[in-house]
Amino acid sequence: MTLIGLDMVMEARVRIAPHILRTPLNHSASLSVRCGAPVHLKLETRQTTGSFKLRGASNAVLSLSRDARERGLVTASTGNHGRALAQAAKAAGVHAVVCMSALVPSNKVDAVRALGAEVRIVGHSQDDAQNEVDRLVREEGLTAVPPFDHAAVIAGQGTIGLEIVEDAPDTALVLIPLSGGGLAAGVAAAMKNKSPHIRAVGISMARGAAMSESLNAGHPVSVEEQETLADSLGGGIGLANRYTFAMCRDLLDDVVLLSEDEIAAGIRHASIEEGEIVEGAGAVGIAALLAGKVVPRGPTVVVVSGRNIDEARHRQIAFGAAEKTSGAGGHG
Ligand SMILES: *Cc1c(COP(=O)(O)O)cnc(C)c1O
Repeated sequence: MTLIGLDMVMEARVRIAPHILRTPLNHSASLSVRCGAPVHLKLETRQTTGSFKLRGASNAVLSLSRDARERGLVTASTGNHGRALAQAAKAAGVHAVVCMSALVPSNKVDAVRALGAEVRIVGHSQDDAQNEVDRLVREEGLTAVPPFDHAAVIAGQGTIGLEIVEDAPDTALVLIPLSGGGLAAGVAAAMKNKSPHIRAVGISMARGAAMSESLNAGHPVSVEEQETLADSLGGGIGLANRYTFAMCRDLLDDVVLLSEDEIAAGIRHASIEEGEIVEGAGAVGIAALLAGKVVPRGPTVVVVSGRNIDEARHRQIAFGAAEKTSGAGGHG
């Protein structure tokens, strides 16, 4: 089953082209030698706002009716989706509200404000912030754009898959960071439509892997959220999941889970060997290759999904003592 067709991804590509960067696909000499197969890195770390999420957010914003654009957008995400939505709304001239709890650190508040969104501080938890989103949707007619389980968002993330197939048509294996599954569903749908033989593997952290547990259970389940270096991969998939659960079930050939030490090794390798600052969620594909948990048998592409990591924390992981890496900072 493909809920999101190639036509939707191709339309997304045209729609978002003026607003996003076509990111580089760089050969990794070190990973190619280690794996005995050509390995390329799709560097969404270079994307505007520092993650691929600008693709899906831009496609969602640009797909809105004129009426919805005039009323504005709202989200409770303070992480990469919140940033991306703020940027996409600004580019489209749409008002965006980001609801946050009073506990969100001031640097995250400032980052969203700097992108032109209105910040509303409400309550003391993510649930309080989400309740304010629901109220604004109900009472003021704002449109909520969810981070992954939304057709336009998935199609937008799928544009990465089109670029990979163009730049490396012989790709046999693609490694995709996996949380709510919008990225994995979009990329796998686009690539498998173009070349059905491609293997697509989703990578999550072992600590609180909601999609993996849901796939094992055969239906969406909730998991306890835990601190992890891959903070952008935290959170559930939604018990009323509409798209990404079924797409990941049908399109992913495998899902691999990583320890915190393995993720730290991925961040370190990205920095020292590839010269890229990569956040934990973005480094899981590299980490899976280094840990030998995915063994390429042909040309391989790793989606490196984002770079938004606290600078001091990055320095500590990349250049500091390896044993100090467990337990992460704020949630993304
Ligand atoms: C959101 C995010 C992911 C996971 O994307 P999903 O569509 O939720 O699976 C991976 N990496 C980064 C950097 C992200 O921000």
